[in-house]
Amino acid sequence: MIVVGAGLVGRACAWQLQQRGHQVQLLDPGLNGSPDPNSGSWAALGVLMAQVFHRSSGRGWRLRQRSLSLWGEWRQQLGAQGWPLAWQPGLLLLASGADDLERQQRLVASRQLQGLPLELWGRAQLDALAPALPAGAVGGLYSPADGQLDPGTAMAALLGDGLRLGLQPVCDRAERLERQAGGWTVHTSGGQTLRADAVVVSAGVSSASLLESLGHSQPQEPVLGQALELELAAPTSWDTAGPWPGAVVWQGANLVPRTRASDPGGARLWLGATLEPGDQADPTALAQLRTLGGTAPDWLEQATVVRRWQGHRPHPLGQPAPLLAALEPGLLLASGHYRNGVLLAPATAEWVAEQLELS
Ligand SMILES: Cc1cc2nc3c(=O)[nH]c(=O)nc-3n(C[C@H](O)[C@H](O)[C@H](O)COP(=O)(O)OP(=O)(O)OC[C@H]3O[C@@H](n4cnc5c(N)ncnc54)[C@H](O)[C@@H]3O)c2cc1C
Repeated sequence: MIVVGAGLVGRACAWQLQQRGHQVQLLDPGLNGSPDPNSGSWAALGVLMAQVFHRSSGRGWRLRQRSLSLWGEWRQQLGAQGWPLAWQPGLLLLASGADDLERQQRLVASRQLQGLPLELWGRAQLDALAPALPAGAVGGLYSPADGQLDPGTAMAALLGDGLRLGLQPVCDRAERLERQAGGWTVHTSGGQTLRADAVVVSAGVSSASLLESLGHSQPQEPVLGQALELELAAPTSWDTAGPWPGAVVWQGANLVPRTRASDPGGARLWLGATLEPGDQADPTALAQLRTLGGTAPDWLEQATVVRRWQGHRPHPLGQPAPLLAALEPGLLLASGHYRNGVLLAPATAEWVAEQLELS
């Protein structure tokens, strides 16, 4: 089988297929060690929002629940092979007004009926946290089962363990897919002709153009996201558990404490991400993020920017995210995950494997 695209989704699909005994070739020019600077996976913050999803039924809900559970299993499996994934449990969604609070109360009530643990936090609980949260937060919703997974460790683990299982990496770009009797041919930018029973297209925004020539219209647009890594001024310090109970979400921005283990140099924070339709970064959007739209506490204002990055989220046009489609026998599309590709990678990979085993 051939998987086109080695972002997190492609790597997850390849690894899952290998787990089930398939031979896999993984095709991506970025496998030479210089990943596509527009790739969403290398830019992602890795916040997993499954239990706090605003719906309680439907495909999106089921995929999120399944994926969160699979990430738990995958962390154990990959960890046992010497690939520990950096996971911070807990997610705190701050409320900025009465409407937010009401939505959070409804969600907690609905999750309680499902037996899922969500908690409402009052301002006093927020005030007890250090460093201080934005003063405008009037309450919060805490989910102990959601959390943050470092996408870099997951990308390395899936590829590393895949290679152990016999994965064949091809450092090339897929130029054209062609049907042939009993299977598929992939023509690459390096002049190779690869043949397989089945092809999984998980090439992010580029998936659309690869499928267009086969008569499949699955349009996507890039939605750019910018993010920052900040070094906090002493004496702020959070160790592995951190004084915050996990990552914090404030008015759409994620604040992710970086653990000491990965950050021996000091206390750091990931801050992201902007939501900018298109592929051109807007400095104003970044400035808004940096100051949390004017609500940043002093310690955050005083922090130093040590890294800035950006990437494209693959956003489907005219269809809900993600795009999971069996287009023809042996041709699957697994893309269009928009803002939740890290969360949804395992459930996507499971869907891909099941589809190919059905055919
Ligand atoms: C700033 C930012 C923050 C984010 N934060 C989160 C988050 O907190 N939680 C979350 O769940 N999601 C998050 N996301 C979304 C998530 O990153 C994406 O949904 C996910 O990475 C999509 O993965 P992918 O593998 O489909 O695509 P990509 O990561 O874009 O990978 C596509 C790959 O395909 C390769 N490729 C392209 N064309 C070809 C071709 N013709 N032949 C071979 N290979 C090709 C590229 O080189 C690339 O490696 C964030 C995204 C951004 C940009």
